[in-house]
Parts: sequence; C-alpha cells; structure tokens
Amino acid sequence: MRNMEKRVRVRFAPSPTGGLHMGGVRTALFNYLFAKKHGGDFILRIEDTDQTRFVEGAEEYIIKALKWCGIEPNEGVGFGDGPHAPYRQSERKELGIYKTYADKLIASGHAYYAFDTSEELDEMRRRLEAAKVVAPQYNAVTRQNMRNSLTLPEDEVKNLMEGGAKYVIRLNVPRNEEIRFNDIIRGWVTVNSAQVDDKVLLKSDGMPTYHLAHIVDDIEMEISHAVRGEEWLPSAPAHILIYRYLGLEDQMPKLAHLPLILNPDGNGKISKREARFPVFPLSWQDPREATPYIGYKESGYYPEAFVNILALLGWNPGTNEEFFTVDQLAHIFEFERVHKSGAKFDPEKAKWFNQHYLRLKPDAELAEAFKPILKEKGFERDQEFMIQFCKLVKEKVQFVQEFWDHGKYIFIAPQAYDEKVMAKKWNDKSRDIFDAVVAQFEAVKDWQVEEITTHFHNAEAQVGKVDMQLLRVLITGVAGGPQLFDMLALMGKEEVLKRLGTALNKL
Ligand code: GLU
Repeated sequence: MRNMEKRVRVRFAPSPTGGLHMGGVRTALFNYLFAKKHGGDFILRIEDTDQTRFVEGAEEYIIKALKWCGIEPNEGVGFGDGPHAPYRQSERKELGIYKTYADKLIASGHAYYAFDTSEELDEMRRRLEAAKVVAPQYNAVTRQNMRNSLTLPEDEVKNLMEGGAKYVIRLNVPRNEEIRFNDIIRGWVTVNSAQVDDKVLLKSDGMPTYHLAHIVDDIEMEISHAVRGEEWLPSAPAHILIYRYLGLEDQMPKLAHLPLILNPDGNGKISKREARFPVFPLSWQDPREATPYIGYKESGYYPEAFVNILALLGWNPGTNEEFFTVDQLAHIFEFERVHKSGAKFDPEKAKWFNQHYLRLKPDAELAEAFKPILKEKGFERDQEFMIQFCKLVKEKVQFVQEFWDHGKYIFIAPQAYDEKVMAKKWNDKSRDIFDAVVAQFEAVKDWQVEEITTHFHNAEAQVGKVDMQLLRVLITGVAGGPQLFDMLALMGKEEVLKRLGTALNKL
C-alpha cells in the first residue's frame, strides 16, 4: 500500500527512563491531535530495550500523565490491546521480531557482526582523537581496523560465533553516498553517509537498539507518520538506510521532527531541574533521587490550561486566537503550521492560561476545590458562602490555592490597618464620618448589596463624601480587594459592624 493511502496511525513511543516531562507530553499531544483530525489511531508503545536505563514507575507515570491531560491513546500499553500487541519492546523481542529483520540485513550484506570489546572501542576512540578526528565514529573507514565480519576471514568469524564470542550487529553504512529524505516540518534534508556511523542494531544481549526496534515496530504496526522530538533528526539518515536496505522504503512512515522547547531565557532546552516552573505534568518521584519534582497538576494547573500551553509551543493556528480546547485543536491542528525553530516557554503566560480556565469554572467547582485549603487554615463555611466567596475573589486569582491569599481577610479580622492609606486619608473628620456610616449600616434590614449601598449613600448625604478605600481598610486592614459592597454583603452585618467598632475604638 502506498503511504498516501495509508490509514493515519501514529505512535507515542517513550522510553521508561524517567517521568515524562512537558516536551514528551507535547510530542504525545501533537500525535494525538493529528490522529484525531484524521480519524486515525494513536498508539502508546513503550521502548524499553535499554534495560540499563529502565526506571521503576516510569511507565505507570506516562500512562497516568496522558490520562490527566485527556490525550489518551486508543491502543497500546495501558490503553488496550489491538491487533499489534504486545506494545512493550522487551516483550516483542521475546517473539523474535527484531532478530528476523537484523538477519535479513545480514543476509543482504547491509549489516555485519562486530566482535570488538569495549576496551578495543575505547582504544579506537583514543587513536582517532589523537589523530585529531573531530567526531570519532565506527564507520566505513574506521571499521577496517576493527574486528568484524567485514575484516576478519570467514572461518574466523564462524569460529568466533560458534565459540560463543560476544558480538553486536552493525549497519553497513556506505562511505560516501547522499541520503535525502523529506520531513513534514523541515522539508528536504540531505546528509552525506560519511556523517553517519555504523549504528549498532542488535546488542550483544540480543536486545535491539532503538534504531532497529522502532523501525521494525513502525512497519509491523503500520505506522503512517513518525512524529518525534528534534533530537532524533541526526539519526534519521541511518533510519532511511535501514528502510531502504530492508526494501521497505515505500512503507516508511512520513517523518516529522518537532522543534525543541526552550527555557524562558531561550538559551537551551528546558531542564528537569528548572526551579521557576514545573517541568512534569504530575509530580514525579524519581526512585534514584531524594526530592520529588512537583507537577503542573499539584501546582494548581488545570489540564486544559497545560494542554493549551503545550499546543502553542511550536505550533500556531495562524490567527490571533490563543484559547483552544483539545477538541478544537483536533480540528485545526496541522504539521504545516509547526515551526522548525525552538519554542520558548513563557511561565507567566502559562499562569495566565490557567487564570483563563479558572474563570470558566463554575463557582461551585471552585468552592469545592478551595474548601480543603480553607479547612487547613482553620475555617469552614457553608456551600453558599463558599460559592459567593469564589465568585467574588476569582477575578484576582490564577490558581485555586491563591483564593486564600486574596481573600483571607474575609475570614480573619485585621490586626493592623494599611499604614499608607491611614496616613494619607485618616483625619480629624474621619471619626464623625464613620460613626455615621456605622449608624446607617446598623439600620440595614436586609443585608444585601442594594440596601448596603443605599445606606452608604444615606450616610454620605449626612456627612459628605465617605472614602471607600478607608472604609475597606477599616474592615479588612488592606488597601485593595474585590468589590467592596459585595464583600460586605458576604461577610455579614454582624461581622462588618464588629470590625468597624474595633477599628474606631483603636483609632
Ligand atoms: N524511544 C524514543 C524516545 O524516547 C522514541 C523516539 C521516536 O518516537 O521514534 O524518544
């Protein structure tokens, strides 16, 4: 079947070497969106062939993170078996899938056995470095001085193999050949094979390397597009050769290498040790490290916000619109609008996105989320109060946990009064003015915004202009906050009068 007619099947293929960071989630997201847009399949494949880098808990973390983001694969590890199970490469290896392909390459002369020990390889590197070779590699030139089935006599190779000598299988990369391939994001890329090393395809323990395994799986799983991070671009020429030598070039998935996500300074990749913002979607405890990494979720981000931010890292809709749900993205996403250059992450903008999604939440949901935080601070209020509180304060916050900082004075009577405001506005007429306000407030029957306002104006009619900010400071201690009369209505008549009384007594 020709590529163009292939059903869209994409895969996210992480190695379980740690928690999935935001760059990985973005790769998963773009795969997901592309699959959705084309009514195709999105597969989770776990590439665990490097046993030395395996990290306990990483696979479970990846599954949980994709679920939290709402970008679930419809096939693969943790999401249900399709016709291409198993989806873990370590399990696929047991079925002999990779070995078959490696043997094919050996048979056609496009791969060979190499018997070099790690000492011999180190020695080679030292020799090349001494000869001022910039990037020493095992290739068409250097392999001639090494111990492999291209340099050793046939019977020696046979003896070594039969004697159980350790060997790897390497790709036989030609010395000087143009390799040309198309990347959906980058266009045509041309690389000379002299730049490509004789990659190990099968390791001495029989495990395939990433290079062989992902190609075999992409073919076997009928993947139509391989979408992955830019760090894989330098390996792509070797991959093209493997497809070619296997006679599978016409079945090769189309390639798309996504741009890097850069740190806010724009001078490098985002580091997992970044202190200014979370890097992982969910908190991640690396079993090899003492301190956990706090996730976006645990920092108070909504998945909608997180996904929206990620979508705009390297892709743009071509309009000024910035807010998109996953479903909307799935309609408009296209690789043609993914750029080549790195995308700088802006943590302030990320917060702003969260604010947007927070404001869209029903007040009852915000109330529910804020309840435990309030309880921890030692306060409890009924549902109606909580809803009104959230409605009032939500314009001020970007995260649910900020409701406390922006509204704590509603629960706690002031100990002190904003000095600046007091120095500037409290004068010898103030006491009479506020006595009048107190008297008017005492007369309010139905303690609602409307009646509070009317009585406030009554007081003004008696004593002249009442400074609203000063009134606020006398009641809350602080100079700013949500709508004053709304806040007074919420606090209740008794509490407001008590606080005004205390303030006037003190001053
Ligand atoms: N296992 C590779 C990784 O973790 C996957 C690269 C690919 O998608 O081909 O980055």
